Amino acid sequence: MAIYTCFDMVRDCRGNRPEGWAYLVTNYSPVIRRLLAQYYDGRPGLLERVLQQLMNPQSTLWAAPGHAEERIFVCALRQELLRLVELDAASQPPSIELDLEILTQALEPLTVIERQYVWLESMGYSNELTAQMMNLDVSSSEAARARADELLRNVLDQWRRGLVAENGLTLGRLATGTLGERCLPAKAYLDTLDGRITWQHKKDYEFHMMQCWYCLDHFCRIREADFAINKSKPLSEEEASPLIAKLGVVLPKKEKKGLLARMFAK
Ligand SMILES: [Zn+2]
Repeated sequence: MAIYTCFDMVRDCRGNRPEGWAYLVTNYSPVIRRLLAQYYDGRPGLLERVLQQLMNPQSTLWAAPGHAEERIFVCALRQELLRLVELDAASQPPSIELDLEILTQALEPLTVIERQYVWLESMGYSNELTAQMMNLDVSSSEAARARADELLRNVLDQWRRGLVAENGLTLGRLATGTLGERCLPAKAYLDTLDGRITWQHKKDYEFHMMQCWYCLDHFCRIREADFAINKSKPLSEEEASPLIAKLGVVLPKKEKKGLLARMFAK
């Protein structure tokens, strides 16, 4: 029996088949819940609302071929979640605005690892979670962020603590707008995370990321996706069934048993 995968889900959702939606709910609502809590803690009822909105075969989320790789899919899913929730009710703008030019200027002395600590701060991750995501110790994250704060303070007329985190949404939007021809494919980051790269590639990737906020953001989002998947457990059949039914997904009776067995075979 072939196991049902993310690849099958993307194909089925594109074709508006109930199997795809059922798999999305079962496997990815825990990831979605985690991401919503990260960015919109306290806004009630979001999970069902965004699931409804994602269940649209025309959504750009289902159009991209690369999304068959689970982490690439979750990385794109995160962007779509933020877009949908912001459309629903936009977050407060930052009190003092940062932009990429300011960051480039201020953070010039920071290494590529230190920049990732700072970027993950902009994504709202605590030092503890960041250390787990980066597989490094908490004190390195604390030190890099304190240093970034000082560096920003030096170039800004107005400064206050927490500016980086406050500007996360803005910086994320600015960074995704700077995709260039030489930007790295998601696979480069997956290979890096999985330790499948040569020393030369690592050097090349780091060299590029030092000059490109798009790629630094992209790498941090891949790290986030990897982490969110690892920390989330798919719903059990008992948990998934009521939610699937509530969302109006009707699985074909005849195939239901075999399909669920394939989905829960992992
Ligand atoms: Zn780039």
